[in-house]
Amino acid sequence: MRKIAVLGATGSIGTQTLDIIGQYPDRFRACALAAHSDAEGLFRLARSFRPDCCALVNGVPVPDDLKHISWFFGPDSARRMTAACGADDALCAVVGIAGLDAVMTALETCERVLLANKEALVTGGGLVTEKARRLGRELLPVDSEHSAIFQCLKAAQGNPVRRVILTCSGGALRSWDKNAIENARVEDVLKHPTWRMGSKITVDCASLMNKGLEVIEAHYLFDMPPEKIDVVVHPQSVIHSMVEFEDGAVLAQLGTPDMRGPISYAMGHPGRIDYGAKRLDFASLGALSFEKPDEERFPCLAYAREALTLGGAWPVILNGANEEAVAAFLRGEARFGQIASTVRRVLDESAFEPVRDVSDVYRADALAREKARAVLGR
Ligand code: NDP
Ligand code: MG
Repeated sequence: MRKIAVLGATGSIGTQTLDIIGQYPDRFRACALAAHSDAEGLFRLARSFRPDCCALVNGVPVPDDLKHISWFFGPDSARRMTAACGADDALCAVVGIAGLDAVMTALETCERVLLANKEALVTGGGLVTEKARRLGRELLPVDSEHSAIFQCLKAAQGNPVRRVILTCSGGALRSWDKNAIENARVEDVLKHPTWRMGSKITVDCASLMNKGLEVIEAHYLFDMPPEKIDVVVHPQSVIHSMVEFEDGAVLAQLGTPDMRGPISYAMGHPGRIDYGAKRLDFASLGALSFEKPDEERFPCLAYAREALTLGGAWPVILNGANEEAVAAFLRGEARFGQIASTVRRVLDESAFEPVRDVSDVYRADALAREKARAVLGR
């Protein structure tokens, strides 16, 4: 029986994780649940999964029937709960850099960290992977592309890798022209062709910033130099990513697009879990197609590569500017095109900063956000 802390329990990844836990009550127990402000959602989950601890950033009065649970409230409630709950594994599915502290704490207190929260790795970078290595913790990817690469790399058996190839759906605006992209509405951007996800990542998919963040994520997770990380647009999202070896052989991991695949793989690792996956029906799939990402219409991918290559706090600055711009877009206070232009301006107006510890990360993040708000005129 593994005790799992689910951070971001009310979200897309969190609820899919709990779906798998619910299917295997003899193997997994959700001992701790954390959310931001969806109190009703968290109460509902607490009633069905009976955790020992719950955390809610925006605290509210707890109903009588849930008062036996240990409650944590406030901005760093997920981190404090993670430190106290005694989980074996932490599934980190908070969105944004807000999850970084909890990830760092989970590495101290849990045997394994199942990581969906890519922004924690983009911003924490080497600090996260170094801590995992130093403490001998398993850092298991939940992001579908990284789970695919992780699975393909098992076949490497010590042989060098020529490159990894991240696949990319292309997002909701893949076939739109530049002018239409600039003015895309929130409802258009949130119509992702193949995945149902939280709104922040869905916006990132449409701008291709998500793929940029994933290039950075792959760099840290697999210790892969940026020039060995390629991206190919594959609209069907059936091939989740690929690894190429020195003899030209390419291994791919395929499956029906369902995040419970990579979530369950991380949960069961090194075993596999039957969560009721729909079989791939190759005959009815027809053709799988591939195209080069268009960095002219979707410049965020190139900005992320630039930040990764420059190193230091650049990925933190990129991420902070993007989080601010995406939030403004979702509130209806910025055009879609302003996401890319804000990130560009903030990168242009920033200077190199080294990252020695987490406080450097937060300093660079705060500065980038301040600059982004100024660019966005707020
Ligand atoms: P959602 O927006 O659906 O969910 C986010 C979750 O995090 C919610 O439970 C939210 O609580 C909670 N949360 C937000 N801030 C805090 C905080 N400060 N402390 C505690 N909890 C917090 O996002 P997704 O599930 O889509 O994505 C989560 C992460 O996983 C992201 O980093 C994303 O990039 C990554 N990911 C997601 C995929 C997907 O298919 N959804 C695929 C690959 C990666 P509340 O509900 O109360 O707001
Ligand atoms: Mg992904």
